Amino acid sequence: MMQNKLPLTIDPIKAAQKKLDYVGYYPAKSVARVESIKSDIECSLSFDYDEQKLCVVTIDAKVTLELICQRCFKPFITEVHVMNKFSPVKSDAQAETLPDYYEPVLINEFGEIDILALLEDEIILSLPIAPVHDSKHCEVSEADMVFGEIPAENEKTNPFAILDSLKNKG
Ligand SMILES: [Zn+2]
Repeated sequence: MMQNKLPLTIDPIKAAQKKLDYVGYYPAKSVARVESIKSDIECSLSFDYDEQKLCVVTIDAKVTLELICQRCFKPFITEVHVMNKFSPVKSDAQAETLPDYYEPVLINEFGEIDILALLEDEIILSLPIAPVHDSKHCEVSEADMVFGEIPAENEKTNPFAILDSLKNKG
């Protein structure tokens, strides 16, 4: 099946009025804030109104990343799957009125939401703080792990400190 490149920004209100669904991808090279991305982001988007007349954006996306195992410090490939429901808002006050089952997403001055930025946030937030291999693939065995913690010096230089700081920025 031919996959379409998805629009970076979408007017969610217009899209919900038309009950639009999109299936396609964002090219890996368009993704600025996720490190070591190894695939395009495959994504489906659907826009609708719920019974409370709230605009709902349903996102289902997956991407392949290369992470660094925090047990043996070798890279490994993993797939991240992001699924969430969002409701567009114009302010923090409006965000607070949303039911718990929707995440707020801010509408910009052009009446649009930045889908790619939203996906980048979701991917970064879904990453484990200390990713590790499956034990059968890891070069450090479970038995070796018994001998204590990673030394503090290593933690400072670990590449996940960067991802953590990205997460905290958002
Ligand atoms: Zn490992």
